[in-house]
Amino acid sequence: MPRATPQSILALSAPLLLEVLVLFLAGCRSARPAESVSATALAPNAVQQTTIGRSVEDRPIEMIRFGSGPHVILVIGGIHGSEAGGFYVAERLVEQLRATPIPAGRTVAVIPRANPDGCARHVRANAHGVDINRNFPAANWAKSRRGSYYGGLAALSEPETVALTQAIEQTNPELIISLHSIEAGRHCNNFDGPAADVAAELAARNHYPVTRTMGYATPGSLGSYAGVDRHIATITLELPRTLPDAQAWSQNRQALWFAVAGEDLANGP
Ligand SMILES: [Zn+2]
Repeated sequence: MPRATPQSILALSAPLLLEVLVLFLAGCRSARPAESVSATALAPNAVQQTTIGRSVEDRPIEMIRFGSGPHVILVIGGIHGSEAGGFYVAERLVEQLRATPIPAGRTVAVIPRANPDGCARHVRANAHGVDINRNFPAANWAKSRRGSYYGGLAALSEPETVALTQAIEQTNPELIISLHSIEAGRHCNNFDGPAADVAAELAARNHYPVTRTMGYATPGSLGSYAGVDRHIATITLELPRTLPDAQAWSQNRQALWFAVAGEDLANGP
């Protein structure tokens, strides 16, 4: 084996030095975007939009997230596509969140159209004819006949339900508000799980009655799954269906803001 000369040591170490330099430069390059991403995530009213899944007809299901605090509130609109007030109000809430910083310590995630195929057609169910609010893997899920309240062939059989349960898993909310509409006179702040206080706070602002039950069984509903089985405070806000959408928002703007921000909106109703 030939003795190592200063030249051969240089010849061996030059590629090594080059490699170290390349790694160093690569490190500098990758560090910059990572820093700016975390800076954005720490801003009090940071906005992050993600596609949490796709519908039967391949429409994206979007979730828009504001803030980065440990108290997480998840708002869901459009589980029933025939209840336009629900997704209209969810979209107005997104606009309000873009305009008004939420207090530090809070994260608000909004899924305005959980059933985008149903919303596009203004029908209750998804494109398989399944009622998403009867398809959650709740202990009380049961096989049902095809029709308005059809819960699917099995719990969690629908991509929309999968996306919603994954979003709950991922965001780990302490409060879920699901926006629906119902014939006038039966509108209410319905709650499941430890949400009596939130329901009362909503009622003080939207003046809808508080109800613990809708008066009929709801096997496989979000309230059964998240509220009853998982003990997450869950509100099913039933708007009066005949009320024009803009009025549904003005009746509920203060109530929803208080529920997501923990304080009243400064600039009134
Ligand atoms: Zn509904």
